[in-house]
Amino acid sequence: MQLTGNLFIGAHEVAASEGTLQALAPATNELIEPPFALGGSAEVERAATLADEAFDSYSHTSLAERAAFLERIADNLDAVRQPLAARAALETGLPQAQLEGEAAKAATQFRQFAEVVRRGRFLHLAIDPEQPERQPRPRMDHRLQKMAIGPVAIFGASNFPIAYSVAGGDTASALAAGAPVILKAHNAHPGASEIMARAIRQAVRDCGLHEGVFSMLRGGGNALGEALVEHPLVKAVAFTGSERGGMALYRRAQLRPEPIPVFCEMTSVNPTFVLPHAVEERGASIGDGFIERMLVNVGQACLKPAILVAVEGDGLDALRQAMIQRLRTSPARTMLTPGIHAAYGEGLDALLSAGAQRIAEGSPAEAANDGAAALLEVDGRRFLAEPVLAGEVFGPAALLVTVRDTEEMLAVARSLRGQLSATLQLENGDLPLARRLLPILERRTGRIVVNAFSHPQEVSFASIHGGPFPASTDSRFTSVGMTAIERFLRPVCYQGFPDELLPEALRAANPLGLPRSLDGQ
Ligand code: NAP
Repeated sequence: MQLTGNLFIGAHEVAASEGTLQALAPATNELIEPPFALGGSAEVERAATLADEAFDSYSHTSLAERAAFLERIADNLDAVRQPLAARAALETGLPQAQLEGEAAKAATQFRQFAEVVRRGRFLHLAIDPEQPERQPRPRMDHRLQKMAIGPVAIFGASNFPIAYSVAGGDTASALAAGAPVILKAHNAHPGASEIMARAIRQAVRDCGLHEGVFSMLRGGGNALGEALVEHPLVKAVAFTGSERGGMALYRRAQLRPEPIPVFCEMTSVNPTFVLPHAVEERGASIGDGFIERMLVNVGQACLKPAILVAVEGDGLDALRQAMIQRLRTSPARTMLTPGIHAAYGEGLDALLSAGAQRIAEGSPAEAANDGAAALLEVDGRRFLAEPVLAGEVFGPAALLVTVRDTEEMLAVARSLRGQLSATLQLENGDLPLARRLLPILERRTGRIVVNAFSHPQEVSFASIHGGPFPASTDSRFTSVGMTAIERFLRPVCYQGFPDELLPEALRAANPLGLPRSLDGQ
């Protein structure tokens, strides 16, 4: 597939105004053609103006039109699945077959959101009819529906270069809400980003929508991202990446004359608590399964199970040995970027300096950006004394925390910051302890899993990919799953309206046949 390296501002392909960058193949450290354009505040201005111009028409598309647009994006993504996965594999070092699966998942997300749009529940239609006889004051007719919040800026993630990137769930949910999208592509996979952006732009054209519905920009340094978050026509931000980056953007958005919501998904160690009966009965298979899940995506996953907490006693050594065995046989694999590779080494050093012991290593690195797996161990007392041990190390590393007794396990749980997920491995005899752990975990995590691991995650109505800070900046919402659309909606109430002036979905005859609540019923 021919790549131009241009920025996409609505229907226009725009050359570099702030220099270019070249993609890097992390497996070989070689630069890949072509050069990719970098933009700055001038491009943000153009894209935001176009997005604002597109807003009124796009946010008022019929549900059928919008659903058809999302399905067209899915079809266009399917049509480029193979070249997209090939380019993403080159730019990330991840296996092409895995990336083809990710591309299929990305297309599926657009189809799922098309279904959400058609069903119309996301509009939260509510009618409180007028009560002219009510005493002491008559009630006017009130009708509520949700509408898109405005143009949304999205920062694509580095680690899932398709399903969390340009064509990821953030884009799908924002477009489903009726919000134009300005995408800040991640510089780690510019070619894959261009292929996805072309698929989306083509769908905008195919469906006869305003060109400002979708733009894709790229920047070097922080200036473009900062300009995007500060632009007065941008009304919400979604971000996946580091805590430092997410919080810098979050703070910037709150200092705007008009603050806006910023939904950052940042960091999580997804602790696994192996309760005593489970250690005794299944310690080895839990240890093996834990390391297997930890190694997915070379440990570069927000849902990586990074910390396993188990009580000393029968079965613990079998669990530990199974973890060691599985980790020792794992080959070193290419990490996403030289920067992420370097950060992995620094993160491991920080855990070792804080008192963790390295108890196993995977095969050694053979190439510059190879991440060699590592298993570290620490006791509960040390873990509680050194908060750095509870931090995320992005890469193929795990920490075994051995606790003296169940009280220390509860203390470890209480010490944790907010998480995307937590896992309980338990048997029937563990239920009393599980009941004590649950309220502690409910306060600290978005999703609790029993007798499985939190990765992979369903994209569905009841699934959640969010959690208390620092897992995310707003624990009320999710960035994955069908309710991710809620981030980009706000309610509008129509009071005392003549029927013909109401949005179609709220008219008396319910011409769209959508579910609506009447006086809360
Ligand atoms: P990142 O450094 O946070 O960057 C993510 C995106 O935000 C990039 O487009 C980046 O632009 C932009 N950005 C970051 N800081 C910014 C700032 N201060 N102002 C404006 N824009 C800013 O994340 P990353 O590159 O994906 O990976 C780095 C680390 O993030 C990893 O080592 C890992 O710890 C963490 N991470 C976590 C998750 C997770 O799901 N928990 C996922 C991915 C990464 P530039 O590239 O142009 O700077």
